[in-house]
Amino acid sequence: MQLIDNYSEIKAKARKAGEKYGIRESFAPEIIIVTKTHGPEAISPLLEYGHRIFGENRVQEAQKKWPALKEKFSNIELHLIGPLQTNKVKEALEIFDVIQTLDRQKLAEAIAKEFAKSKNIATKSFFVQVNTGEEAQKSGILPQEADNFIKYCKETLKLPVIGLMCIPPISGPPSLHFALLRKIAERNNLKYLSMGMSSDFEIAVTMGATHIRIGSAIFGERKYGAKKPHNKQDNN
Ligand SMILES: *Cc1c(COP(=O)(O)O)cnc(C)c1O
Repeated sequence: MQLIDNYSEIKAKARKAGEKYGIRESFAPEIIIVTKTHGPEAISPLLEYGHRIFGENRVQEAQKKWPALKEKFSNIELHLIGPLQTNKVKEALEIFDVIQTLDRQKLAEAIAKEFAKSKNIATKSFFVQVNTGEEAQKSGILPQEADNFIKYCKETLKLPVIGLMCIPPISGPPSLHFALLRKIAERNNLKYLSMGMSSDFEIAVTMGATHIRIGSAIFGERKYGAKKPHNKQDNN
């Protein structure tokens, strides 16, 4: 099956790139298969094959397809990789195991408030999204504000922040952005780095990515309605 072949190829390439990343021995990053725009019938073969880590960029889309899949297959780990509006926090915390787009004070505070009062929370950890390219249209905390923001989330709000995420600018080499993200993670004692997509995951892995986010290299180009990852939604 083409889908499984693509998946196996990504896995092999990621592992090979991991061998080049000298610090850890035989390191293989986690592959987050990005399923936005794809329905359960496209996703199921990957679940049947044994893959368990997936990413979605919209809360509502995830709510439509993942509860049934989570019921059918155990141990699914679902990551939110798109911008989160404060009015969707409750829903997001109920369905996503990991939220990678913690990117502003108001959102962090809304999450902390919901964490304190809700019983029905699936989310176990967070990544802070950093706008490494300082692009106006893109979400993420600015690099120069990252240290304070991470500290605020961890120490004041007691949120389990474990890593950083970035989406480099479309043009130009991504390596500077991956290096910057890693530097910020190191000085804040964060262990995990979500960086690298279909076009640049091998570079990301050689630079220390622990999580890569792969959509089109597995499913083919998205055909309809896909929000590009650089589209910022609102910042409320
Ligand atoms: C869609 C998306 C991806 C996957 O992109 P591909 O180029 O299809 O691999 C990765 N990260 C984010 C944040 C996305 O929105």
